[in-house]
Amino acid sequence: MKKVVKFGGSSLASAEQFGKVGNIIRADKSRIYVIPSAPGKRFSKDNKVTDMLYACYDLAEAGKPFDKELGAIRERYQEIIDGLKLKMSLDDEFKTIESNFKTKKGRDYAASRGEYLNGRIMAEYLGYSFVDPVDVIFFDEEGNFDDEKTNEVLGIALSKLDNAVVPGFYGSMPDGSVKTFSRGGSDITGSIVARAAKVDIYENWTDVSGFLVADPRIIDKPEGIETITYKELRELSYMGAGVLHEDAIFPVRIEGIPINIKNTNAPEDNGTWIVESTCQKSKYIITGIAGKKGFCSINIEKDKMNSEIGFGRKVLNVFEDNGISFEHMPSGIDTLTVFVHQDEFMDKEQRVVSGIHRLAKPDTIEIEADLALIAVVGRGMKSTRGTAGRIFSALAHANVNVKMIDQGSSELNIIIGVANSDFETAIKAIYDIFVTSALDVR
Ligand code: ASP
Repeated sequence: MKKVVKFGGSSLASAEQFGKVGNIIRADKSRIYVIPSAPGKRFSKDNKVTDMLYACYDLAEAGKPFDKELGAIRERYQEIIDGLKLKMSLDDEFKTIESNFKTKKGRDYAASRGEYLNGRIMAEYLGYSFVDPVDVIFFDEEGNFDDEKTNEVLGIALSKLDNAVVPGFYGSMPDGSVKTFSRGGSDITGSIVARAAKVDIYENWTDVSGFLVADPRIIDKPEGIETITYKELRELSYMGAGVLHEDAIFPVRIEGIPINIKNTNAPEDNGTWIVESTCQKSKYIITGIAGKKGFCSINIEKDKMNSEIGFGRKVLNVFEDNGISFEHMPSGIDTLTVFVHQDEFMDKEQRVVSGIHRLAKPDTIEIEADLALIAVVGRGMKSTRGTAGRIFSALAHANVNVKMIDQGSSELNIIIGVANSDFETAIKAIYDIFVTSALDVR
């Protein structure tokens, strides 16, 4: 059995947290490849080291003094080194970082130092080999992750090592410069390493015991999710369920490796298993509910639209030309509605409206702002009758006006559009009908 273990920023924010991580790794011999994030927050008002690095580099780039800020970053690491009683010095590392900041080596380089230094400390603490991602994780000329080259080079490198620490979040461009993934990207590194080393399990350790059926800021103490499929997770993370980076499932998916989300502060909890497929029924008909505010709908009407070939293409062309991606597009015989992110659309709205008039010649175009989309996701919905009916009667009872309904052919999710102001009420109503009332019956 081989495992990749990735630890998030809050799991590595202090020497005390490092101690917990050390115990977790030493408790299981199969935990051989370790992916650390940069130190996160130790308490709610604390700063993440990644944010400190960005801010510090911005000063350097503007030609302003940055020694105080770099000193504060150094202190965060020194505190960990001292707390773990390690005999290592970061003198040379910080000299290099300082001079690279002065020569403006780039924001990605700056941010990557958070993971790099934590990786150095972790390798020293565990007695594991250190692998610098610039040598094994690659991006192409366009800055897209080069999965094939990475998989090959990383696979060979790891096959020669019994154990290793590979810092998360970054790799290198063809010219050797550092490039990071988007924020939270250490989750992706963990998945890439799991795939390349062909391990059995990718454990992703964080500060919660896995995914919850709904957002705890909306639902008081929501139930946890025991098992979720890659596809379900993709729907939920796209809609804002934020435990794991939404791109982290792609590499492990290729090898069918399960991800286990675990809690560093409660390692005995089972957490959530993310799998390709399962015969395990989820506890409730739905697996999870997630949603986002801030959408806009563009409602286009034209008599006999249904018989006009190419109408939809012309409308979508306008969005494409303006660089706006659309989320959903329900249609009727004489109507077609396009849902977009309000912030992407706002500045370009009049250009889009005139573009549609010019190309598609509709009768009217109406824009409605401040909408929210809610995804009700569950592999169990396919085999259960009446799910949609229950959702909509729950929403009607809660006085929520449904503005849009979209059920994909996969029957894995139902997307509902409501006003931003109804968002929380709608999620509560759906949670209650599927989860709270199921708990009451027991
Ligand atoms: N340290 C990076 C961030 O704060 C990457 C990560 O933690 O996954 O986004």
